[in-house]
Amino acid sequence: MKVTVLGYWGAFPWNGEGTSSYLLEADGFSLLIDAGSSTLNVLQEQLDPLTLDAVIISHYHHDHIADLGVLQYYRQLKPKGLPIPILPIYGHQEDKGHYESLTLPGVSEGRPYVEGEPLDIGPFRLGFLRTVHPVTCFAMRIEEIKTGKVLVYTADSGHLAAFKEFNEGADVLIADTYLLEGQENHHAHFTSKEAGLMAREGRIKTLILSHLPQEVDLDLLREQAQHHAGEQVAVLLAQRNLTLTI
Ligand code: ZN
Repeated sequence: MKVTVLGYWGAFPWNGEGTSSYLLEADGFSLLIDAGSSTLNVLQEQLDPLTLDAVIISHYHHDHIADLGVLQYYRQLKPKGLPIPILPIYGHQEDKGHYESLTLPGVSEGRPYVEGEPLDIGPFRLGFLRTVHPVTCFAMRIEEIKTGKVLVYTADSGHLAAFKEFNEGADVLIADTYLLEGQENHHAHFTSKEAGLMAREGRIKTLILSHLPQEVDLDLLREQAQHHAGEQVAVLLAQRNLTLTI
């Protein structure tokens, strides 16, 4: 499977780049993971959004759903009469208003996911973990069924011991790393130290630091994460169109 970073800033777009959004592809199937601001523009560099097969949303903070509405409009208006499939958009149901907004009749259909219940979407099998965040949010462990390769996306979270088991043996971990070392046990986000330690404990091969903070020394953020992850983990800063084949 192939993962591509579309947007990577936390909270708001910055210097022409957008917020949390990732494209996961395998066997001709494309899954959009979160739809932050700038998603639609960057997605068009990768594929025609009319061919997108499914979307999954970790939580309903604006920096993860900002472009969801315009993606619905794109598919509603762009085809000019050409039939395109209803787009499944997966989200949790603990925020009724936002969940209902995933459905736009004739265009997209909201579908629920639940912690503890594995969910198959195309070639992927997903598991979920409720995170530490001010609103209900779920991390995702995504396995490509055919190969057994695993991507974990923490979504937004502060330190949570359960990640140790959730991350175990993943090939790639995309971690919310919004804070420098020294602010551990934050109520909403990981620090560079916590992201690095998670990667070490989970025996992760590649750690992608994402949901990045603006106006912070990102080289320092990466160095701190690398220090705690250990030399066996490749630690990368997320950037637009960064692509990894897993
Ligand atoms: Zn959030």
